[in-house]
Amino acid sequence: MASYKLCEDCGYKNDINSISCSLCGGKKLNLKEENKRSKIKYYLIFLGLFFVLFYVFYNRKEKAELKTEEIPVFVSEKRPINYYTYLRSLKKISRLNPDENDEKAIKRALNYEDKTIKETALFVLKKWSQNPGIKEEKRKEYLSLINTSSDKK
Ligand SMILES: [Zn+2]
Repeated sequence: MASYKLCEDCGYKNDINSISCSLCGGKKLNLKEENKRSKIKYYLIFLGLFFVLFYVFYNRKEKAELKTEEIPVFVSEKRPINYYTYLRSLKKISRLNPDENDEKAIKRALNYEDKTIKETALFVLKKWSQNPGIKEEKRKEYLSLINTSSDKK
């Protein structure tokens, strides 16, 4: 409740700027100050609202930033794939016994400008070369790929 002027005659709560009571015309008006507790209450409500708005705004901003990082990567036939999906798929290849297509995918990844993609491809090649079941010829091929790609930068 905001401040008001209480009429002593009729008890009407008049506007703070009143000189006489607007209900009965009485002149005995007592100024009643808004009590401090409710002031604090309103302040806290305002503060809470501010933080809620701030939180909502901040979250939206973060989401927007995330979106810019979802760069489509053109892997084959110009089919866009989400950046992180692509990285995850690349990592999965490291667990496989590589065939021709896996090798092709890794060689393609090595040619991307993106540092993370490149490093992931190098990681996969390293895993392949460490596979004990792999042919010596292939191991040499992977190791030389690692060397040439690391040098390029
Ligand atoms: Zn009055």
